[in-house]
Amino acid sequence: MNLSEAPVTGSLLSSADQTLIDGVLAGQRRALAKAITLVESTRADHQQRAQGVLNHLLPHTGRAMRVGISGVPGAGKSTFIEALGTWLIDRGHRLAVLAVDPSSSVSGGSILGDKTRMETLCQREEAFIRPSPSAGSLGGVAEKTREAMLLCEAAGFDVIIVETVGVGQSETTVAGMVDMFCLLQLPNAGDDLQAIKKGIVEIADLVVINKADIDPRATAVVRAQWKNALHMLRPASPNWAPPVLTVSALQKQGVGEFWQAVEKYRDTLTTTGEFAEKRRHQSLAWMWQLIDSGLRLHFRHHPRVRQNLPALSQAVELGTTTPAAAAYALLDYLKH
Ligand code: GDP
Repeated sequence: MNLSEAPVTGSLLSSADQTLIDGVLAGQRRALAKAITLVESTRADHQQRAQGVLNHLLPHTGRAMRVGISGVPGAGKSTFIEALGTWLIDRGHRLAVLAVDPSSSVSGGSILGDKTRMETLCQREEAFIRPSPSAGSLGGVAEKTREAMLLCEAAGFDVIIVETVGVGQSETTVAGMVDMFCLLQLPNAGDDLQAIKKGIVEIADLVVINKADIDPRATAVVRAQWKNALHMLRPASPNWAPPVLTVSALQKQGVGEFWQAVEKYRDTLTTTGEFAEKRRHQSLAWMWQLIDSGLRLHFRHHPRVRQNLPALSQAVELGTTTPAAAAYALLDYLKH
């Protein structure tokens, strides 16, 4: 069977889309980049084509290890990913790096500053690096990144890294789309408390303290603090206590240990069934997110809602009606 004749839903494909699918399945980076551009397009006809392409590729997805890496600007994400990527490629892996950049969804600019980063990795045929989509809300950016991840898997990349900046809500968003979520930290005392406050310690499956070369003793102290902080929390899985590793991305030290921990996590949670369970859960959550945003859009465009929304909003502000009464009245318009 031709790989692209997968028995899935969707209408007939144009020959251009068929070529695109074949190119992706053959692992061509150019075809993959084009497919991701199609997925990221906001044009309605592009979106329709994108969904057709994705549907045909779906049977070829799901085989990669999906790893999230988050850290503040300067933590060493790109240096670490470059070291890790080269290490993985030398061992026969193919690696895709995608980014969720919350700043790009707000300002169109980017904290991750994608263009000049990871230059060595960029040149490797076995690596694919894609900056964050710049349009839309964080939810929209995340949706595109999820779809890009599927396309990378169909193109045979067996390790997907989703990188994000340690600000705002993006960590939770990324944790919701990967198998394993890693925090890249600087060896600064007290950062564990910051992370606890922001609620991101709970979602970490692994903590990596980078730049251990600068001050190994201080790094050891910070590592102990992190271990303590993690110990106090109930882990997401009873079968996995998130480890705290120390690395030096610059000196390429600790990269092998990092990957060992990733594999151990995958193996442990695969044995218990939690790995597959997490993916099922993520897929359903993704579906509901799309339903929620679709309903919201439908609601906002409904003629009677549009007509009555200003007056009802004002009534709520003035206190002449309750938020609940206004909400129910508006939702009722959808029934007609
Ligand atoms: P990002 O903003 O998180 O992607 O951080 P970068 O990877 O761009 O690193 C920020 C700076 O820290 C750069 O100047 C790197 O060379 C430096 N850096 C990254 N990793 C290490 C490390 O392990 N040790 C030392 N000494 N410097 C590092």
